[in-house]
Amino acid sequence: MNRHFARTTRFYAIVYRTLCLPHCYLARTIIVMLTSCSPVTMAAESLRAQEINDCRSGEIVTWADGIDHPVASEELLFTYDPLNAPVRFPESLVSDMVAKAALAWSGCGITGRLIPRPEASRRSNVIQVQWNEAESRGNFGLSNLGKHTLSLSANAFDNLNTVNPSYDTRITLQMVISHEMGHHYGLMAHSRRCIDVLSYYDNGKGEKCTKRNPFDTGGVTEYRHNFPTTCDLARCRAVNGK
Ligand SMILES: [Zn+2]
Repeated sequence: MNRHFARTTRFYAIVYRTLCLPHCYLARTIIVMLTSCSPVTMAAESLRAQEINDCRSGEIVTWADGIDHPVASEELLFTYDPLNAPVRFPESLVSDMVAKAALAWSGCGITGRLIPRPEASRRSNVIQVQWNEAESRGNFGLSNLGKHTLSLSANAFDNLNTVNPSYDTRITLQMVISHEMGHHYGLMAHSRRCIDVLSYYDNGKGEKCTKRNPFDTGGVTEYRHNFPTTCDLARCRAVNGK
């Protein structure tokens, strides 16, 4: 960090549909911000970290776009199929992301874990993480609870890489996996809190998500956390009676 660095921020506004359940077709705006280091951004990063780790009374607020429901299981099993994955996302990388997201969501009180495909084929109700354009329907990711799938779109990630080649798309992939996994934990409504992995930034009607400091960019590429926050987990525990 160099405190004499001028703060330079470039905004890349990319409008696309993302991160939704099948009933949700609103356009989403993801703003990718590239920010150099400065005391201002360091302070903002600290505030963002507080929002991740600290859930204050009254902060659990959702968009009225779904009804949460408890999961009828004490354990959620995931498996990963690398067929049709972009070459920039090797199997070991994505498997690790799925395992990390499942471990993080286990803080809900329902254990989540990744199992190998051969084991998954012998068990029922295993949620398959897969690359499938038809099932993801133009979104980065889409969950289908009835089919027990979490579908990712290689095209969407290719487009993101084309628009901004210097951006590390692994950040968005981890966030999308964590976000969609949250739907399998019974969280159907999206969070109004920008930092929550279950959030979206605006509803396409001029309403935006909230931050403790509305001017805070956090000095990061994606304000939304890429794992469940304390508020995400608190809502999950409440919904599931944990
Ligand atoms: Zn969603």
